Amino acid sequence: MTENPQFDRGSILGHIWYALLFRCPRCYKGAMWRGPLRMNKFCPSCGLAFEREPGYFVGGMYASYFVGVFLTMPVWMWLIMSHQSFPVFFAVTVGMVILVWPVAFHYSRVIWIHIDYFVEPWAFQSNETVPGLTVEEKRHPVMPLR
Ligand SMILES: [Zn+2]
Repeated sequence: MTENPQFDRGSILGHIWYALLFRCPRCYKGAMWRGPLRMNKFCPSCGLAFEREPGYFVGGMYASYFVGVFLTMPVWMWLIMSHQSFPVFFAVTVGMVILVWPVAFHYSRVIWIHIDYFVEPWAFQSNETVPGLTVEEKRHPVMPLR
């Protein structure tokens, strides 16, 4: 697909900042999550369908991996450098999995959709082409930007 210059992909720093705030990649205003493990189906501000196709967020596993590595690497370095015993190593590892999993899960979806929006902003201009939505959902209004 060729790039269409009429679509504004936004800046990398803008996407990083609003991904940290769990905001919509299109309008930067609507919250992607309405609570723990509960993602909004549509952006409450601009109406964008977040799940662009069935299985869309499977790609978020890549982001989840990097979030997990980023958050746990300092602890891993401390464990290795301080020559901790196996029980300490095991307990800290289990604790990190419990603490990091929810953070990685929520951020993985947000990061994934921000990357996708940055790469192909023209694919986010309506919900009409989103497979897996009902006819009524495809007609869900997506407010034009600008
Ligand atoms: Zn939005």
